[in-house]
Amino acid sequence: MKTKEELNKEILETTANIQENYPELSKFADEMTVTIPSVEDPQINATTLAEYNNSLQSIAAGYAQNTQNAKKQIVIIGAGFAGLKLARTLNNHSNYCITLIDKNNYHQFQPLFYQVAMANLDASNISFPLRNIFQKSKNVSIRVTEVTQIDASNHQVITTNGNFTYDYLVIATGAVTNYFGNTDIEQFSFPMKSTWEALQIRNTLLTHFENAITANSLKAQKLLSIVIVGGGPTGVELSGALAEMKTDTLPL
Ligand SMILES: Cc1cc2nc3c(=O)[nH]c(=O)nc-3n(C[C@H](O)[C@H](O)[C@H](O)COP(=O)(O)OP(=O)(O)OC[C@H]3O[C@@H](n4cnc5c(N)ncnc54)[C@H](O)[C@@H]3O)c2cc1C
Repeated sequence: MKTKEELNKEILETTANIQENYPELSKFADEMTVTIPSVEDPQINATTLAEYNNSLQSIAAGYAQNTQNAKKQIVIIGAGFAGLKLARTLNNHSNYCITLIDKNNYHQFQPLFYQVAMANLDASNISFPLRNIFQKSKNVSIRVTEVTQIDASNHQVITTNGNFTYDYLVIATGAVTNYFGNTDIEQFSFPMKSTWEALQIRNTLLTHFENAITANSLKAQKLLSIVIVGGGPTGVELSGALAEMKTDTLPL
């Protein structure tokens, strides 16, 4: 049997836990003028203190269950710019329980893919682990899996690793490369919409540069002929980085 002092310590821990996690509940307790049994009172024995602690704990557990059930479930598919921003905005919001689903366990900073592709940055420099970002979150859970289907009539997100029920669904899965119907480009080029794809470009380029050193001039010319399709910001950035690499890093 625990001593009165030990039980008193447990009661103080339970109330501190309620105050920290359920401040609304401790406010009600104040209004109900519930008094903590005094450990000094000779009429209060260890059994009374233990019962008091048990009831406090079961009130807190019941309250936690009710508030959890009352919270709206938001499922966000995609932890890119949009999904991550929303999850961060609703982080620790008491009205929502959020499940953030992505097929990768990290956020990818796409504007710097070209630096990874050109071997100027490591993949880890532009990848941010989702569980780390939400490590201290009370309402955001991360699920790493691929969404394959939405069952809108039953409010279910179907994934390769189970189903998720939602009250609100946010689809933030980004975009895929548009080849504008050019099947040759689609078949023979490397897209650059993920860290993995940027790494494929990097590995292929570096292998070509290495092989060009020992190849005859015709073969070397082939290995070093690079076509970038798309002259938007990414195409221009890639071209500039390639030019720098050719003059500064890899003079043959
Ligand atoms: C190379 C490059 C450079 C860019 N540079 C710039 C720039 O300089 N400035 C700028 O403003 N914008 C830039 N952009 C555009 C910008 O990155 C996008 O507009 C932005 O990322 C779109 O955000 P999003 O949240 O809609 O999608 P994304 O950021 O693409 O995120 C989508 C997420 O959904 C996940 N996902 C997709 N399908 C599934 C599935 N079925 N199941 C689970 N998860 C899934 C993906 O893994 C990804 O994490 C660039 C884009 C690229 C590709």
